[in-house]
Amino acid sequence: MIIIMQSHATEAEVQAVVTKIESAGLTTNISRGTERTIIGAIGNERELPHESLLASPGVDDVMRIVKPYKIVAREWHEENTLITVKDITIGGDEIQIIAGPCSVETQAQMDLAAQNVAEAGCRLMRGGAFKPRTSPYAFQGKGVEGLEIFRQAADKQNLPIVTELMDVRQLDSFLEHGVDIIQIGTRNMQNFDLLKEVGKIHIPIILKRGLCSTISEWLMSAEYIAAGGNHNIILCERGVRSFETAYRNMLDVTAIPVLKKETHLPVIVDPSHAGGKAALVPALSKAAIAAGADGLLVEVHPNPCEAWCDADQALSPLDIKTLMAELKLIAQAVGRKI
Ligand code: PEP
Ligand code: MN
Repeated sequence: MIIIMQSHATEAEVQAVVTKIESAGLTTNISRGTERTIIGAIGNERELPHESLLASPGVDDVMRIVKPYKIVAREWHEENTLITVKDITIGGDEIQIIAGPCSVETQAQMDLAAQNVAEAGCRLMRGGAFKPRTSPYAFQGKGVEGLEIFRQAADKQNLPIVTELMDVRQLDSFLEHGVDIIQIGTRNMQNFDLLKEVGKIHIPIILKRGLCSTISEWLMSAEYIAAGGNHNIILCERGVRSFETAYRNMLDVTAIPVLKKETHLPVIVDPSHAGGKAALVPALSKAAIAAGADGLLVEVHPNPCEAWCDADQALSPLDIKTLMAELKLIAQAVGRKI
């Protein structure tokens, strides 16, 4: 860490900063320029009280040298992390498409959806049993009954299931129903207590990007999970809030190569919640794969017009089949397969 003193900082203020650094177990290197004094802190800077140093008299600025996250940083772990669910690998050469409805509705709807997903060649299935809805009066999901319905439908097609956990009190039911991948949604990306809880288990976690979160904040949230011992984390870009009103969220395609450089964790993209309209999903999906995403999380419904949730953005069974055929070509073009 580098501490830049103000031009009028007194010697006593410089010494007070040095004492603060040394009492945290680090050593210092003082560089006195013609205008300013700069103090270099040598050692594990994560031990240093960043904010307290910044607030110290005579201090102008404090600059970190190392990244605030460690376990998830590629700097510390060069190889890509591969996440295995049954015989499926996420983060390897094969791109994985996770498809299914926004929410679990009925057994018949889920049975049909599972059949559609499997027939299109997708190897994992999504579906929300607990739904984070903007309005408290909107359908909130079927809850535990939804998990039961989902499990039964997916088992018939041998599809691992991905579903959102909103509260730690739901975790036991998730474990009982053998949820294969737990999704932490956008609205909970910074629910730190929830992140700590899923850090204690070993089930893979899809961590969606917060509505307005920076990549650094997102990686810090991933670090919360990893710090608890669960390193099976998949990051999911799903669009961020922007000034644009022509679509639901702005898909941050740039985040994909940035994340690939910053972290060894697999990165997937949710084109459905980004575009918010089914017609936009194919283009966003292709852009994501071309930019290096390891997979997609796509909303598909047997009968989109009848969907209880996010009807406008759901692909039809025919749409997903067509998209899968197109994505195979994109994957091939970037040296991967579907
Ligand atoms: C979802 O995937 O069903 C969902 C609610 O997504 P997000 O958290 O990205 O809004
Ligand atoms: Mn949805």
